[in-house]
Amino acid sequence: MNDSNIIKCRHCGTEYEVTPKVRAQHEAREYSFYCTSCKTSFYYNKMYEKQFHISDILSITTGRLLSTRHMDGIYDILDFLSQDELYTHQLPRAMKEFQPYLLEQFPQFVDIDKDLTQENCGVWLQKQTVKFGEMFVVTISFEDIKRLHSYNNPLDELITMVGNRNNTGATNE
Ligand SMILES: [Zn+2]
Repeated sequence: MNDSNIIKCRHCGTEYEVTPKVRAQHEAREYSFYCTSCKTSFYYNKMYEKQFHISDILSITTGRLLSTRHMDGIYDILDFLSQDELYTHQLPRAMKEFQPYLLEQFPQFVDIDKDLTQENCGVWLQKQTVKFGEMFVVTISFEDIKRLHSYNNPLDELITMVGNRNNTGATNE
């Protein structure tokens, strides 16, 4: 049996031998697979993975612009994590959505920014790179993205944000 011909039930673990075509369609989440053993159907939990520089990851976990690629690094990692094409005004929200997730994946970065300031960030980043390494593989599954991220229409979201800002200070009748 070849692994690429197997679909494993996400609920009970029963394995089914299928044709490569069925397996490929399942992986593309084109349709769900019905498990005759536990009588539930399920979609494939697609995994995404990509390598990122430590400065991209630390930008999200610390909330400071540390990326050596500046804003490109922020767009890159948040677009990857959300599998979305984020607009500038959506970045702060996406950052909040994925910050706890990244810290869970990289517990070594929890609380390392205590001595980080605006002035020392270059030296600080250099120190972390020496200590932890330069490149990291970030992974996220389809289910995690669905759980953490909301796909909002960028224009609608902007209008809501502007609306909320205009309402600031207004009193309730
Ligand atoms: Zn099952």
